[in-house]
Amino acid sequence: MKKYVCIICGYVYDGALPFEELPDDYVCPICGVGKNKFEIITHDLKEALLKINYGLYVITARDGNKDNGCVMDALMQLTDEPPVVAFSINKVNMTHDLLMKTREFNISVLTEDAPRELFRLFSAKTGRAIDKFENFPDAKRSGNGIYYLSKHTNTRLSGKIIDIIDVGTHTLFRGQITDAEVFNNNETLTYSDYRKEPRYRQMFCFQCQQTAKGTGCTMVGVCGKKPDTAYEQDLLTCEIIGLASALQAKGVDSDQMVDLIVDGLFTCITNVNFDTDKVAAIVANVKANREKMGGGEIMKTVDLFGGDIDVRSLRSTLLFGLRGMAAYAHHARVLGMRDPEVDRWFIKGMASLGKPHTVDEWLGLILEFGGINLKCMQILDTANTGAYGNPVPVQVPLKVEKGPFIVVTGHDLHDLQMLLEQTDGKGVNIYTHGEMLPAHSYPELKKHPQLKGNFGTAWQNQQVEFKDMPAPVLFTTNCIMRPKESYADRVYTTAVVQYPEMVHIEADASGRKDFSALIDHAKKLGGYTEDRQLTGINGGFTMTAGYGRETVLNNAPAIIDAVKSGAIKHFFLVDGCDGAQPGRSYYTEFVKQAPKDTLVLTLACGRYRFNDLDIGKIGPFPRILDMGQCNDTYGAIQVALALAGAFKCGVNDLPLTLVLSWYEQKAVCVLLTLLSLNIKNILLGPTLPAFLSPNVLKVLIDKFNIGLISTPEADMARILKK
Ligand code: SF4
Repeated sequence: MKKYVCIICGYVYDGALPFEELPDDYVCPICGVGKNKFEIITHDLKEALLKINYGLYVITARDGNKDNGCVMDALMQLTDEPPVVAFSINKVNMTHDLLMKTREFNISVLTEDAPRELFRLFSAKTGRAIDKFENFPDAKRSGNGIYYLSKHTNTRLSGKIIDIIDVGTHTLFRGQITDAEVFNNNETLTYSDYRKEPRYRQMFCFQCQQTAKGTGCTMVGVCGKKPDTAYEQDLLTCEIIGLASALQAKGVDSDQMVDLIVDGLFTCITNVNFDTDKVAAIVANVKANREKMGGGEIMKTVDLFGGDIDVRSLRSTLLFGLRGMAAYAHHARVLGMRDPEVDRWFIKGMASLGKPHTVDEWLGLILEFGGINLKCMQILDTANTGAYGNPVPVQVPLKVEKGPFIVVTGHDLHDLQMLLEQTDGKGVNIYTHGEMLPAHSYPELKKHPQLKGNFGTAWQNQQVEFKDMPAPVLFTTNCIMRPKESYADRVYTTAVVQYPEMVHIEADASGRKDFSALIDHAKKLGGYTEDRQLTGINGGFTMTAGYGRETVLNNAPAIIDAVKSGAIKHFFLVDGCDGAQPGRSYYTEFVKQAPKDTLVLTLACGRYRFNDLDIGKIGPFPRILDMGQCNDTYGAIQVALALAGAFKCGVNDLPLTLVLSWYEQKAVCVLLTLLSLNIKNILLGPTLPAFLSPNVLKVLIDKFNIGLISTPEADMARILKK
């Protein structure tokens, strides 16, 4: 299949569907440009060019009081007499502009001990936003007044530019060396060593469904995560393993330490935190606490996803499950609920990742974890229903009323509650987005009249849906995508969600958040001038929510009667996340094809594929029953257990099929919970997790008969034939 590359950000499309067949409104998942910005790759140019080796240098310049520098690789000596070099610099660099103006430079030749932080400062950051030398201790000025690096370098070259050639994206400079100094004989760092060295190595991440080529993101995340952020997240994970090991060794399980572990794990979930500096600050905090607890050397980041392929698979499965559970534990905690058994398991689980285990021991840990996650979801269920009441069925309008409004996305009901309290009587309406939709069904949230309806659909459509919206948006949890320029100044984040340069709202010591800037922003933007009718992805005008555990169980006798009379022949639980992959239309088609005597229970943002469809009713029940957020799988499990009890059979004997769509790590912990309950025949899609090795997958197939979705027609026929 032909490959296409985004000419803006370099993302290579390698999806299952040929690029030519992607819908016209397809956008690059990293930078958001349209199909017309993609070019066909005729040969593996990038890989070929990487074979050319270079040294690595920091070139510095000065204009008046402004100093700047950047990493450069394209440097060569042209002549000995006079000593002339040539180098090329990208025009977007501020150093480029200083060189063009002042025509004087210093070049520091980097050595093999150059730390990653040096590259982060001189490569990943721009001098237009910061003063790179403000807190940089290893710089001195040479005779020309320009800074050079005094550490991690073996030579300084100072010179003047004698010639300039425009070469498109770059400028080629010819410079005469006027002064030089050799500091030591340490080896010069080369580009190939830089690429090989673990501390600089390309990222590796395969934790979510959209991972590059179905195997792992290595250059940059399909989600937009940069290698620097990935490195800090890996380091954070290793630090947490070290902290958990120290806590386990000392028998300490303080709330404060477990909170660090929980929020650190949540930070690493897909589409949560893209701010490398903020993640690095969390790393430093966990490290300080690990050292305080007497923790020793930590696991190397390179080993986190290394080693034997099956062990890597099992370790990753447990890690990703723990990351998912951390999100649920965080939501319960902000409502004052925690459980000592769950807390202890965060320590046990994370400490176990740093130890060797047999395959059977890993499997035992994974299934034990699934049981603990059920408990964690139960605690969250208790926290949510305790704070906001039991969900009740509601029709959620998709109409946005004229006037100022705020869109709230993510999962955190507590954030929404605080925002509702602060907007009471202020003339600013609130609309849910993505996984916040079930909020409408909670009596204590619903009672606020300004909670009007739902804006848009699932998370992956945000770059289109927020583009022209005359309102700010608050991200409370995943899934934030790279904000496009058209709405970046309207993005607010809170809790563990962070994106560089976006406004972040922190809680004060009492946990209260001040949303006044967000509210003022909404008033200033003013919203739409007329009511605006939006639709779901199938053109529907409303969505139903609120068929939670309590509502369904209260109606259990009627449901059981309907099964006995043959009015309900089969239940489908279509549960899980949505995503950008075209194959996810499977779930729309599957629900459309579900026969009229079947009920569809649904959870999580995968619902948006079909929740605006009217597929009729069975008795008093709509045929699509929305049970809530992904964590409300706890409620769905209780319903399944109650039905099994009523029919005196096991859950696997019920006329019930679980059709899961997965995207991120909360789906992983939910899946492990279902397996821990020995629920079999689960259909999983749109692809199998990349982190499951063939042997581990075989175990899951043999033990639980997990299957990959095929086509709605074939799967439906096979299920109903049983
Ligand atoms: Fe890739 Fe997913 Fe990891 Fe992002 S979270 S880097 S898309 S595997």
